[in-house]
Amino acid sequence: MHTVKSYVEGRWHEADSGFRPLVDPSTEEVIAQVSSHGIDFAAVLDHAHTEGCPSLAALTFAERGALLKGMSKVLRNHRDELLALSAQNTGTTTPDGSFDVDGASGTLFYYAGLATSMGDSNVLVEGDGSALARDDAFWSQHALVARRGAAVAINAFNFPIWGWAEKVACAVLAGMPVIIKPATSTALPAARSIERIVEADILPAGVLQMICGGTGDLLDRLGPQDVLAFTGSADTAAKLSDRDNLRQHNTRINIEADSLNAAVLAPDADGRTFDLFVKDVVREMTQKTGQKCTAVRRILVPTALLDRAREALVDRLGAVVPGNPADEATTMGPLANADQLDDTVRGTAELRAQAELVHGSGERVDGVGGDAGKGYFFGPTLLLANDSYDADVIHSREVFAPVATLLPYDGSADHAGALVAKGGGTLVTSTYTDDTDWLRGFLLAGGHSTGRLYVGSQEAKVLGSGVALPQSQHGGPGRAGGGEELGGMVGVKRYMQRVALQAHKGVVDSVLG
Ligand code: NAP
Repeated sequence: MHTVKSYVEGRWHEADSGFRPLVDPSTEEVIAQVSSHGIDFAAVLDHAHTEGCPSLAALTFAERGALLKGMSKVLRNHRDELLALSAQNTGTTTPDGSFDVDGASGTLFYYAGLATSMGDSNVLVEGDGSALARDDAFWSQHALVARRGAAVAINAFNFPIWGWAEKVACAVLAGMPVIIKPATSTALPAARSIERIVEADILPAGVLQMICGGTGDLLDRLGPQDVLAFTGSADTAAKLSDRDNLRQHNTRINIEADSLNAAVLAPDADGRTFDLFVKDVVREMTQKTGQKCTAVRRILVPTALLDRAREALVDRLGAVVPGNPADEATTMGPLANADQLDDTVRGTAELRAQAELVHGSGERVDGVGGDAGKGYFFGPTLLLANDSYDADVIHSREVFAPVATLLPYDGSADHAGALVAKGGGTLVTSTYTDDTDWLRGFLLAGGHSTGRLYVGSQEAKVLGSGVALPQSQHGGPGRAGGGEELGGMVGVKRYMQRVALQAHKGVVDSVLG
């Protein structure tokens, strides 16, 4: 049995007890085991503080960027191996797995480029500064320096590689060492990606550590300079951040959590804009078997367009083939684990209390290339709300699977905005319109409840609302966690301390160059 190891204090740690099995979700075969038993978590944190912090503090932004470029290259060089492990441990098809693996190397590469443009400095000057007196005699300038702590990066099961890479890219560029904790159920590709980076020997001591399995008392040890960067469910986020030491030290916490993202069809949408809506919604429901934080869960459609939209979506969803990614006919893999399947069946039944099934059975299905009764397969599922406004379950229950609900509305931007906001805060909202007056109305009515507004229109060359690109902020208000990741320097600043430098302007200019 393969045992997934942790990488701590500059060496590999293999546990001897407390194992949890890792399973191939297409076959239910046990493929590896994971445990963090025996790790000295105080020593892990100390290693990051005493080795990682000074190593990174001594490097300029450009030099830190070279580390990111090196990691990006390693992931690219081992792409095929990582895709194969993703298929085996997470059930992803090659295109879905590449969303994770290529997304990771692309994000690291983007931040490497940004670092190069920041040059030979390790202080980030923010804005132009302000005069505090009539002349230059007293001046205020904001500047950011690296926090002298460790970033603990806890990730969800659905992005085992991109999940750590997007946090590492920002933290390392900022100057903070990172302790990664991948989700246990899909730890195999995550751990192999780190193994390849360690083998390449490109990082200074203490910059990167990885805990596979539980985190022991690590979180209880975090202090004022550390950062807890969490991605996962809102329930786990609430549990993890409810700690005396985190409150006492005001430890910085960045949470990326659940999101009932909405796709909104505007009343004017026609031609290519309407087609884009159908194509995007089906992709954002079924890519990675709906196990994306940015997946579409609610589909708002004007009542006048409901029949047309429903028929087009059902037609396209009917072409999706669930199955083992090893079978060429498969277009959508299984759910990642047994708990996911149980929760999906339970969640779909809960949604059906307020909606009718339009497509799908609401039950597990057999997948192509799989044995009868084996594998965590669940077909794409579309529901139609009985009442769009009085639908608390549909606006609050995240079913982390290829499941979404149609919500008819009256076509007004105000009504659409109010319905989207009932989700309590989302990562992304996609709209499909060529009417910029309607769009402006929607921005004002619903923009406050989402972190990103994606617009499909006749001329737009869009990539899909589910792609968290490093140039744009990833994170949303309220239920989505209130976090801010990526977005160029937005995400980097979460790992830095802003200092307001107040002095004669000549002194400020001389210190900050
Ligand atoms: P989860 O059950 O909340 O777990 C997330 C992470 O927290 C895992 O690494 C898990 O480790 C860890 N964890 C749980 N309890 C812990 C504890 N007591 N101490 C330390 N770590 C602990 O979420 P999931 O099932 O992996 O992922 C699905 C959820 O993530 C969905 O709700 C989805 O919306 C959300 N998500 C959000 C984003 C975003 O960017 N907003 C992205 C992806 C996913 P173990 O695996 O060892 O339990």
